[in-house]
Amino acid sequence: MTTRILVTGGAGFIGSHYVRTLLGPAGPPDVAITVLDKLTYAGNPANLYEVHDADRFCFVRGDICDAQLVGKLVSRHDQVVHFAAESHVDRSILGSEAFVRTNMAGTQTLLDAALRHRLRTFVHISTDEVYGSIRSGSWPETDPLRPNSPYAASKAGADLMALAHHRTHGLDVRVTRCSNNYGPHQFPEKVIPLFITRLLDGRQVPLYGDGLNVRDWIHVDDHVRGIELVRTGGRPGEVYNIGGGNELSNRELTGLLLRECGADWDMVTFVEDRKGHDRRYSVDFTKVRAELGYAPRKELATGLAETVDWYRTHRFWWEPLCRQGERLAS
Ligand code: NAD
Repeated sequence: MTTRILVTGGAGFIGSHYVRTLLGPAGPPDVAITVLDKLTYAGNPANLYEVHDADRFCFVRGDICDAQLVGKLVSRHDQVVHFAAESHVDRSILGSEAFVRTNMAGTQTLLDAALRHRLRTFVHISTDEVYGSIRSGSWPETDPLRPNSPYAASKAGADLMALAHHRTHGLDVRVTRCSNNYGPHQFPEKVIPLFITRLLDGRQVPLYGDGLNVRDWIHVDDHVRGIELVRTGGRPGEVYNIGGGNELSNRELTGLLLRECGADWDMVTFVEDRKGHDRRYSVDFTKVRAELGYAPRKELATGLAETVDWYRTHRFWWEPLCRQGERLAS
């Protein structure tokens, strides 16, 4: 029997990768997908071009805060995989209203509909940023949430509300908390695509503070595989950290990107640090490994080389987005 999945935010970076993977040749044959996406600056119909005429695909432009639309869509689906979010920390520092609205109120709207229509499974895509910052060691799923940025706080609110719907109402909610993703189709405001597109254009790249903030990098293929394992085999009410096992300081990351793009350190400008910049993130992903057999597969060096290559050959995809970004910034 076909499982009907409503994928929110499916026109964004990770959501579209998830949809292309599930509807691609190696995806499960028994799923049909509806994408619900508002098409904010980060949502791009071109990300779904490969699947737009597939029989098992449908696209709805709309807002996850629109209770009527959400109710109608949820009533026609078996599962929700919820990616839709305002996702850029820097933007949340400039103003957090849209973050509270989409990430918290939007998630609440989806959860309400899920309860009302007795949805089978709700997979909530959260982030490792909900844990805060950690000097040494790694967070297990049982650690308390201590988010610092407005983005992380809005994601933590949504994450806790999703889990509350399991504990209070018995809704089958599964939460994933993943580390920093990279790969093709990422909007060129996040560090990796920002640096690659600037370097390919022969422009300077801005490195925050002393460049020693540490992130764990995961290729989007691995994240998508982890989410699928949780959707198909995870347990209700459980949280699963998903990591890439590639901790790097921003300086180290910059060095790798410079080399891959054929540039050197004189292309780097050290700029004032981001306000409240978390020093280090590190998730312990033993649980998803032990319970669901997850392991990251993409070597960082290979993944970064492929990503640079993708941006090199897809100028038509990112150049209009950079121009749009510059218009917004001016
Ligand atoms: P993205 O910004 O590329 O995409 C977000 C998508 O959500 C866009 O298509 C946008 O149009 C859509 N959207 C925004 N507001 C909406 C609304 N009100 N209604 C409907 N659609 C709306 O984000 P991403 O990087 O693909 O992240 C996807 C999810 O994964 C987010 O929930 C994010 O918090 C989480 N996450 C991201 C990372 C990462 O490194 N990018 C890491 C861990 C978790």
